[in-house]
This record gives sequence, structure tokens and C-alpha cells, in this order.
Amino acid sequence: MDILIIFEHSNGKIHRMSWEAVAAGQSLAKDLGLTTAILILGSNVSELAEEASKKNVDEVLVADHPLLERYSSDGYSVALKQIITDESPTYVIMGHTYMVRDFLPRVSVALKKPLLCDLTGYYMENGNSVFTRQLFQGKITSDILPNGEPPYLLTFQSAAFQEDAVVDGSGASVRNIDVNLDKSMIRSQYEEPFQGEVGGVDLTAAELIVTIGRGIGKEENINMVKELGDTLGAQLGASRPVVDAEWLPTAHQVGSSGQTVSPKLYLALGISGAIQHVVGMKGSKNIVAINKDPDAPIFELADYGIIGDIIEIIPKLTEAIKNAKA
Ligand SMILES: Cc1cc2nc3c(=O)[nH]c(=O)nc-3n(C[C@H](O)[C@H](O)[C@H](O)COP(=O)(O)OP(=O)(O)OC[C@H]3O[C@@H](n4cnc5c(N)ncnc54)[C@H](O)[C@@H]3O)c2cc1C
Repeated sequence: MDILIIFEHSNGKIHRMSWEAVAAGQSLAKDLGLTTAILILGSNVSELAEEASKKNVDEVLVADHPLLERYSSDGYSVALKQIITDESPTYVIMGHTYMVRDFLPRVSVALKKPLLCDLTGYYMENGNSVFTRQLFQGKITSDILPNGEPPYLLTFQSAAFQEDAVVDGSGASVRNIDVNLDKSMIRSQYEEPFQGEVGGVDLTAAELIVTIGRGIGKEENINMVKELGDTLGAQLGASRPVVDAEWLPTAHQVGSSGQTVSPKLYLALGISGAIQHVVGMKGSKNIVAINKDPDAPIFELADYGIIGDIIEIIPKLTEAIKNAKA
């Protein structure tokens, strides 16, 4: 195969950004006339393989090994190096997740092959795929044309491609592949399952996010936003001033120096819409902004805008949602 898409999974669930990686791989395959495969590393992962085989890819590869049952940087990087060497793909694609940041640079170094990371997309020029990546907090977009011998390792940032764009297939074949791993190769000890951040906040995987900005005014007001989030079943995001004031931990920060998110609903409360915030949330499918300033830049991006005081609106919104659920 030409394009190898690597799945990330935990507790039997495929990471949302792996589906976005599939969308990226399918798009590249269509534009360049290439074949695709999904690779699953793990142990007893036949259900995941079956799920993957329903997508429009040429093959699903399964590297089933007891030492891959739990993620380890050593295990994944050693196995992936072997698989890439054996299968010789042109492109290797993953979502730009914490786990990938942990192990993929090792694979790049071991193979002496380029890693183009945190890409925002690609465009076609003279039959070549030119990849795009933001620099200087999103102020500049760079165009990258990989040269030298493949494979090229690519990671796409959250929302660079849409999960909804994944094309279903008619049943890809599943092939088991061998990896040569033994305990001596895995130097790290397993502790807790990998989490995006201590405290279990992983905004990149959240479907609903309620984000608070400086407009919340003071720390005591955060409780009303937490109640709204709990009522909606949403994760809590924050702009940088809220994190700088230590009203919420860093794991909640959305933006160029925080998380890049792409939920189905992003509720922006008292957020002005500065570029450093917007680069982290502009891929959200529905953006609802509440701000008392009608000229706040966030309204240029929002699908729905409410001009008003969040301190008045939040409790009413929570009440309305509770009533609607009752
Ligand atoms: C290198 C660098 C990296 C950065 N990284 C990030 C980042 O990752 N994430 C990030 O968010 N920022 C980041 N910033 C900061 C960014 O430039 C902005 O300062 C920040 O996003 C502003 O946050 P805010 O919208 O909450 O606050 P403000 O810009 O102060 O906006 C507050 C908004 O709340 C509204 N408001 C006030 N009271 C109410 C009320 N009662 N009801 C309704 N609306 C109200 C106001 O009208 C205003 O629009 C970075 C900056 C730099 C220089």
C-alpha cells in the first residue's frame, strides 16, 4: 500500500483524530491515485479491525502482540519502524495527538525520514501534494513539499480533516502482520492508561465544549459555567486569561498555546475572539458565542451569536436545558 494510516485507541475505542487521519488518507489517495491501509497495533483488537474494515481503504493491517496490549513509547516505535520498513508506504498518517507526539519522532529518527507534524491540510500543485503548517501562532502558513526518498511521516492537527468526511467501503481485507518484540526492548514501566492531561481532560476528543473567557469576571462565577457544562455533558474549555489567573488548569486552555479542538458544539462565553484563541477552535462544527460587545471578533466566526451578559444568561441557559431534559 502507498498510504499507511495508524489508529490510536484505548479501552476498545478508536480516537476521534484517527478517523480524521482516515479522512486525510482517503483524500490524498483520491488526489494522488494511491492505495491505503489502516494499521492497528495492539492485542486482541479484532473488533477494531472489523470496524476499520468497513471504511473505504484497500486493507487493514493488524499487528497483534501481547507487548502492544498497552501503549508504550518503546513498543510502538520499535513495532512501527519494523512495519514501515517491511511495507514501504510513501506516506504514514496519524492525528497530532499527545501519544503520537510521544513516539513518532523516535520513528522518524530511527528511520532517518522526515516528520511533518501538526499539518493543517494540503493542496495539489503540478500533481504534487503540498502540505500546509502554521507558524508564529498562526500568523503565517508555510507550504511544505517533502523531498528525498519516502516514507514521509505526517501528522494532521485536530479538525484539519473532518471525521464526517470518512468514506465507507464494502469490506476491506484484514491482514495480520508479525512484529518482532521482546520485553528487553520496552524500557518504560506501565502505570496509568495514557490520558491527554492529568485530571482526565482531553478537549481534543470532546464533542461538546463550553469555554469561558475573561468575560466571566471572577473565579466564583466559574461554578455556574461548570453547572452548565455538566448539564450539557460538555467539557470545560478556557481562554488564556482564565488559565493565567489560575481559575482553571492549563489542560483546559484552547488556542495556539493550548489545545486545538473540533467539537460538534463550541459554546464561547465572554471570549473576544483573539487570533491566538481562534486558531485553536475554528474547526468546531457549530460555534455559539455570547458576548456583550456586538463588535467582538468572535461573532465573525460564530454560527449563532447572542449579544448579552453571560452572568445573566448562563444560569437561564442551564435552567432551560434542565427543563428541556426533564
Ligand atoms: C504568544 C501568545 C499565545 C497565546 N495563546 C493563547 C491561547 O492559547 N489561548 C487563548 O485563549 N489566548 C491566547 N493568547 C492570548 C490572546 O491574545 C488573548 O489575549 C486572549 O485570547 C483573550 O482572552 P479572552 O477573549 O477571554 O479575553 P478578552 O480579550 O479580554 O475578551 C473578553 C470578552 O468578554 C466580553 N465580556 C466581558 N464581560 C462580559 C459579560 N459579562 N458578558 C458577556 N461578555 C462579556 C468582552 O466584551 C470581551 O469581548 C496568547 C497570546 C500570546 C501573545
